[in-house]
Amino acid sequence: MSTPRLVFATGNAHKISELEAILAPAWEGFGPGLVARMSDFDVEEPIEDGATFEENSLIKARHLAGATGLAAIADDSGIAVDILGGAPGIFSARWCGRHGDDQANLDLLLSQLSDVRDEQRSAAFVSAAALVLPDGREFVERGEVQGHLLREPRGNGGFGYDPIFVPDGFDVSTAQMSADEKNAISHRGIAFRRLAPTIIEALRG
Ligand code: IMP
Repeated sequence: MSTPRLVFATGNAHKISELEAILAPAWEGFGPGLVARMSDFDVEEPIEDGATFEENSLIKARHLAGATGLAAIADDSGIAVDILGGAPGIFSARWCGRHGDDQANLDLLLSQLSDVRDEQRSAAFVSAAALVLPDGREFVERGEVQGHLLREPRGNGGFGYDPIFVPDGFDVSTAQMSADEKNAISHRGIAFRRLAPTIIEALRG
Protein backbone atom coordinates (compact mmCIF):
# COMPACT_ATOMS: atom_id res chain seq x y z
CA MET A 1 0.00 0.00 0.00
CA SER A 2 1.22 3.49 -0.84
CA THR A 3 0.98 6.56 1.40
CA PRO A 4 -2.17 8.47 0.39
CA ARG A 5 -1.51 11.47 -1.87
CA LEU A 6 -5.12 12.36 -2.39
CA VAL A 7 -8.27 12.12 -0.27
CA PHE A 8 -11.78 11.85 -1.69
CA ALA A 9 -14.74 13.41 0.15
CA THR A 10 -16.94 10.35 -0.08
CA GLY A 11 -17.59 7.12 1.74
CA ASN A 12 -19.05 5.66 -1.46
CA ALA A 13 -16.81 2.79 -2.63
CA HIS A 14 -18.37 2.94 -6.09
CA LYS A 15 -17.31 6.58 -6.56
CA ILE A 16 -13.76 5.77 -5.38
CA SER A 17 -13.37 2.92 -7.86
CA GLU A 18 -14.83 5.08 -10.66
CA LEU A 19 -12.22 7.79 -9.93
CA GLU A 20 -9.37 5.25 -9.60
CA ALA A 21 -10.30 3.68 -12.93
CA ILE A 22 -10.01 7.11 -14.57
CA LEU A 23 -6.75 8.10 -12.84
CA ALA A 24 -4.84 4.80 -12.99
CA PRO A 25 -4.10 4.66 -16.75
CA ALA A 26 -2.76 8.23 -16.82
CA TRP A 27 -0.85 8.27 -13.51
CA GLU A 28 2.55 6.61 -13.66
CA GLY A 29 3.17 4.69 -10.43
CA PHE A 30 -0.52 4.63 -9.48
CA GLY A 31 -1.19 1.97 -6.87
CA PRO A 32 -3.59 0.89 -4.15
CA GLY A 33 -3.87 3.28 -1.23
CA LEU A 34 -2.90 6.43 -3.15
CA VAL A 35 -6.48 7.66 -2.92
CA ALA A 36 -7.77 7.71 0.67
CA ARG A 37 -11.40 8.27 1.57
CA MET A 38 -12.89 10.77 3.98
CA SER A 39 -13.93 8.01 6.40
CA ASP A 40 -10.21 7.11 6.86
CA PHE A 41 -9.89 10.39 8.79
CA ASP A 42 -11.79 11.84 11.72
CA VAL A 43 -13.37 14.69 9.77
CA GLU A 44 -16.89 16.08 10.16
CA GLU A 45 -19.06 16.77 7.11
CA PRO A 46 -19.03 20.47 6.22
CA ILE A 47 -22.27 22.45 5.76
CA GLU A 48 -23.00 22.49 2.03
CA ASP A 49 -24.45 25.98 1.77
CA GLY A 50 -23.26 26.85 -1.73
CA ALA A 51 -25.69 27.95 -4.43
CA THR A 52 -24.23 25.83 -7.25
CA PHE A 53 -22.83 22.32 -7.77
CA GLU A 54 -19.40 23.90 -8.24
CA GLU A 55 -19.56 25.85 -4.96
CA ASN A 56 -20.71 22.81 -2.98
CA SER A 57 -18.00 20.56 -4.41
CA LEU A 58 -15.39 23.22 -3.54
CA ILE A 59 -16.77 23.61 0.00
CA LYS A 60 -16.34 19.84 0.56
CA ALA A 61 -12.87 19.64 -1.00
CA ARG A 62 -11.62 22.80 0.80
CA HIS A 63 -12.83 21.47 4.14
CA LEU A 64 -11.17 18.09 3.62
CA ALA A 65 -7.86 19.55 2.38
CA GLY A 66 -7.77 21.84 5.44
CA ALA A 67 -8.51 18.98 7.84
CA THR A 68 -6.06 16.42 6.37
CA GLY A 69 -3.27 18.48 4.78
CA LEU A 70 -3.67 16.34 1.64
CA ALA A 71 -4.88 17.24 -1.83
CA ALA A 72 -8.64 16.71 -1.68
CA ILE A 73 -11.29 15.83 -4.23
CA ALA A 74 -15.05 16.19 -3.89
CA ASP A 75 -18.02 15.94 -6.20
CA ASP A 76 -21.53 17.31 -5.99
CA SER A 77 -24.22 16.12 -8.33
CA GLY A 78 -27.93 16.05 -9.03
CA ILE A 79 -30.63 16.28 -11.64
CA ALA A 80 -31.67 19.54 -13.34
CA VAL A 81 -35.14 19.57 -14.94
CA ASP A 82 -35.60 22.26 -17.59
CA ILE A 83 -39.28 23.00 -17.01
CA LEU A 84 -38.53 23.42 -13.28
CA GLY A 85 -35.83 26.00 -14.04
CA GLY A 86 -33.03 23.56 -13.18
CA ALA A 87 -34.57 22.17 -9.95
CA PRO A 88 -34.15 19.92 -8.01
CA GLY A 89 -30.50 20.81 -8.86
CA ILE A 90 -28.34 21.09 -5.76
CA PHE A 91 -31.36 20.01 -3.68
CA SER A 92 -31.68 16.64 -5.49
CA ALA A 93 -30.70 14.52 -2.48
CA ARG A 94 -33.30 16.23 -0.22
CA TRP A 95 -36.04 17.30 -2.65
CA CYS A 96 -38.79 15.64 -0.55
CA GLY A 97 -37.56 17.41 2.60
CA ARG A 98 -35.46 14.55 3.97
CA HIS A 99 -31.87 13.89 2.98
CA GLY A 100 -31.22 10.72 0.97
CA ASP A 101 -34.78 9.32 0.66
CA ASP A 102 -34.36 8.34 -3.01
CA GLN A 103 -37.85 6.84 -3.42
CA ALA A 104 -39.67 9.85 -1.93
CA ASN A 105 -37.53 12.27 -3.98
CA LEU A 106 -38.36 10.40 -7.21
CA ASP A 107 -42.09 10.10 -6.36
CA LEU A 108 -42.35 13.81 -5.63
CA LEU A 109 -40.60 14.81 -8.86
CA LEU A 110 -42.83 12.48 -10.92
CA SER A 111 -46.00 13.88 -9.35
CA GLN A 112 -44.84 17.47 -9.92
CA LEU A 113 -44.39 16.65 -13.61
CA SER A 114 -47.56 14.60 -14.08
CA ASP A 115 -49.17 17.17 -16.43
CA VAL A 116 -45.99 17.97 -18.35
CA ARG A 117 -45.98 16.83 -21.99
CA ASP A 118 -43.31 14.40 -23.25
CA GLU A 119 -41.53 17.02 -25.36
CA GLN A 120 -41.13 19.24 -22.30
CA ARG A 121 -39.62 16.62 -20.00
CA SER A 122 -35.97 17.36 -20.82
CA ALA A 123 -33.47 17.14 -17.95
CA ALA A 124 -29.78 16.61 -17.27
CA PHE A 125 -27.68 14.81 -14.71
CA VAL A 126 -25.05 17.31 -13.59
CA SER A 127 -21.86 16.82 -11.59
CA ALA A 128 -19.12 19.18 -10.43
CA ALA A 129 -15.76 17.70 -9.40
CA ALA A 130 -13.39 19.85 -7.34
CA LEU A 131 -9.70 19.56 -6.44
CA VAL A 132 -8.23 21.65 -3.62
CA LEU A 133 -4.48 21.48 -2.96
CA PRO A 134 -2.81 21.94 0.43
CA ASP A 135 -1.27 25.21 -0.85
CA GLY A 136 -4.78 26.58 -1.44
CA ARG A 137 -5.02 26.22 -5.23
CA GLU A 138 -8.53 25.25 -6.35
CA PHE A 139 -9.89 23.67 -9.54
CA VAL A 140 -13.39 22.61 -10.53
CA GLU A 141 -14.85 20.91 -13.62
CA ARG A 142 -18.44 20.13 -14.64
CA GLY A 143 -19.95 17.14 -16.45
CA GLU A 144 -23.50 16.88 -17.81
CA VAL A 145 -25.61 14.19 -19.47
CA GLN A 146 -28.70 15.43 -21.32
CA GLY A 147 -31.85 13.33 -21.48
CA HIS A 148 -35.53 13.23 -20.61
CA LEU A 149 -37.75 12.01 -17.79
CA LEU A 150 -40.14 9.06 -18.03
CA ARG A 151 -43.66 9.00 -16.54
CA GLU A 152 -43.09 5.72 -14.65
CA PRO A 153 -39.90 4.26 -13.14
CA ARG A 154 -38.11 1.61 -15.24
CA GLY A 155 -35.28 -0.70 -14.15
CA ASN A 156 -33.76 -1.75 -10.83
CA GLY A 157 -30.13 -0.66 -11.18
CA GLY A 158 -28.42 2.54 -10.13
CA PHE A 159 -29.82 4.84 -7.45
CA GLY A 160 -31.58 8.17 -7.02
CA TYR A 161 -33.39 9.36 -10.15
CA ASP A 162 -31.93 6.63 -12.43
CA PRO A 163 -35.26 4.78 -12.94
CA ILE A 164 -36.87 7.85 -14.58
CA PHE A 165 -33.93 9.25 -16.60
CA VAL A 166 -33.29 8.27 -20.23
CA PRO A 167 -30.08 9.76 -21.68
CA ASP A 168 -30.25 11.21 -25.21
CA GLY A 169 -29.40 8.54 -27.79
CA PHE A 170 -30.70 5.67 -25.58
CA ASP A 171 -34.12 4.10 -25.17
CA VAL A 172 -33.52 2.68 -21.68
CA SER A 173 -33.34 4.41 -18.31
CA THR A 174 -30.00 4.64 -16.53
CA ALA A 175 -31.46 2.13 -14.02
CA GLN A 176 -31.70 -0.40 -16.90
CA MET A 177 -28.01 -0.04 -17.80
CA SER A 178 -25.13 -2.07 -16.37
CA ALA A 179 -22.73 -0.17 -14.10
CA ASP A 180 -20.13 -0.16 -16.91
CA GLU A 181 -22.61 1.22 -19.46
CA LYS A 182 -23.68 3.98 -17.10
CA ASN A 183 -20.10 4.85 -16.04
CA ALA A 184 -19.11 5.23 -19.69
CA ILE A 185 -21.56 8.13 -20.13
CA SER A 186 -21.95 9.40 -16.56
CA HIS A 187 -21.92 13.08 -15.59
CA ARG A 188 -19.52 12.24 -12.74
CA GLY A 189 -17.22 10.37 -15.14
CA ILE A 190 -17.15 13.37 -17.50
CA ALA A 191 -16.31 15.76 -14.66
CA PHE A 192 -13.61 13.42 -13.24
CA ARG A 193 -12.06 12.88 -16.67
CA ARG A 194 -11.90 16.66 -17.19
CA LEU A 195 -10.23 17.09 -13.79
CA ALA A 196 -7.86 14.09 -14.10
CA PRO A 197 -5.00 15.86 -15.99
CA THR A 198 -4.94 18.62 -13.34
CA ILE A 199 -4.90 16.05 -10.52
CA ILE A 200 -2.04 14.14 -12.10
CA GLU A 201 -0.08 17.31 -12.91
CA ALA A 202 -0.53 18.63 -9.36
CA LEU A 203 0.59 15.39 -7.72
CA ARG A 204 3.42 14.48 -10.10
CA GLY A 205 6.76 13.84 -8.46
P1 IMP B 1 -24.41 13.07 -4.77
O1 IMP B 1 -23.93 14.49 -4.76
O2 IMP B 1 -23.65 12.20 -5.70
O3 IMP B 1 -24.54 12.48 -3.40
O4 IMP B 1 -25.88 13.09 -5.39
C1 IMP B 1 -26.91 13.92 -4.90
C2 IMP B 1 -28.27 13.39 -5.35
O5 IMP B 1 -28.41 13.59 -6.76
C3 IMP B 1 -28.45 11.90 -5.13
O6 IMP B 1 -29.04 11.66 -3.88
C4 IMP B 1 -29.38 11.52 -6.25
O7 IMP B 1 -30.71 11.80 -5.85
C5 IMP B 1 -29.02 12.48 -7.37
N1 IMP B 1 -28.03 11.87 -8.28
C6 IMP B 1 -26.74 12.23 -8.47
N2 IMP B 1 -26.14 11.44 -9.36
C7 IMP B 1 -27.08 10.57 -9.76
C8 IMP B 1 -27.05 9.46 -10.67
O8 IMP B 1 -26.05 9.13 -11.29
N3 IMP B 1 -28.22 8.80 -10.79
C9 IMP B 1 -29.35 9.10 -10.13
N4 IMP B 1 -29.43 10.10 -9.26
C10 IMP B 1 -28.29 10.83 -9.08
